[in-house]
Amino acid sequence: MRVLVAGGAGYIGSHTVLALLARGHDVVVADDFSNARPSVMDRLAELAGRPVALEEVDLTDEARTEEVVARSEPDAVIHFAGLKAVGESVREPLAYYRTNLDATFSLLTAMRTHDVRRLVFSSSATVYGDHAPVPYPESYEPLAAASPYGRTKVMIEQVLTDVGLADPDLRIALLRYFNPVGAHASGRLGEDPQGVPNNLVPYVAQVAVGRRDRLQIYGDDYDTPDGTCLRDYIHVEDLAEGHVAALEHLEAMATPVRAFNLGSGRGTSVRELFDAFCAAVGRPLEAEVVGRRPGDLPAYWADVTRAADELGWRATRGLEEMVADVWRWQSANPDGYPRERAGQHPDVTPA
Ligand code: UDP
Repeated sequence: MRVLVAGGAGYIGSHTVLALLARGHDVVVADDFSNARPSVMDRLAELAGRPVALEEVDLTDEARTEEVVARSEPDAVIHFAGLKAVGESVREPLAYYRTNLDATFSLLTAMRTHDVRRLVFSSSATVYGDHAPVPYPESYEPLAAASPYGRTKVMIEQVLTDVGLADPDLRIALLRYFNPVGAHASGRLGEDPQGVPNNLVPYVAQVAVGRRDRLQIYGDDYDTPDGTCLRDYIHVEDLAEGHVAALEHLEAMATPVRAFNLGSGRGTSVRELFDAFCAAVGRPLEAEVVGRRPGDLPAYWADVTRAADELGWRATRGLEEMVADVWRWQSANPDGYPRERAGQHPDVTPA
């Protein structure tokens, strides 16, 4: 298939691009590099053995998005594009609603114009809110997220559901991610947050390379085996393969829209994860226990039966592999991706 990957230069998008190419699909990346380095494209070319087609576009621009879809003539779209920092979404709700919804509207409009009826959407386990039974089943309703970021995911799921009801020939997979971590096994692709990382694993990785002093563990007085929160960490390469499985399953879907959890199906505590990371690094790292972070749930993980039964997919990479791959990436790229693409020399002013 020819696949337009919106947000394909980002953390999960870039790993998915490689997984698609490995399965023989054609890929066009659409990204505006608002939260990704252009040099990701060099790494993709290096790992793929050939350049990966790129459309540099702000997807909230409906006219430009239409041109991109017209030019790239995709059979399907995988939509990763959007803002994703929970805390920032509380401070800047309008930016989150506008960016995440407008990008989706542009893509859907362009898809309709050009008769593209296959879509895989990046959703999140945050749509389950704080009342769903653990492990979270896809059938749970009503969806309710606790942040503006999460509510953009709930809203987009609702938009896609309505669009699917109006056009029964559409096939849309809603992929609800749990906690993506890990990096490409080559150490050449990984997570490169701008500014102070919000998430546990990139934070620990930056402690390990000396960019941060110590991890703050947000509470060890939860009603869990070691008192710290349990989450369902999933290796980004498993997640990428989950996207390929969902894409290849769209044709066989019995209904226009279907949600799938992409998780490991297991809960891992903050302490277990931190200890595994120290073991991968080979020395103790500093951590201190501080107060709970507002809004954190004590424990949740995915019910993974639907993805296994219908997509034929399950996560295969365990905690040790996740942290070893993050460490390989972070130690080889302590400051993340290069700022400039190969062959560009920004310090040289043209005559
Ligand atoms: N966490 C922590 N210290 C940090 C960041 C996160 O103790 O600096 C904990 C957080 O309380 C949660 C888990 O690590 O229990 C995963 O948090 P993250 O922000 O990575 O993902 P979330 O579960 O919020 O989606």
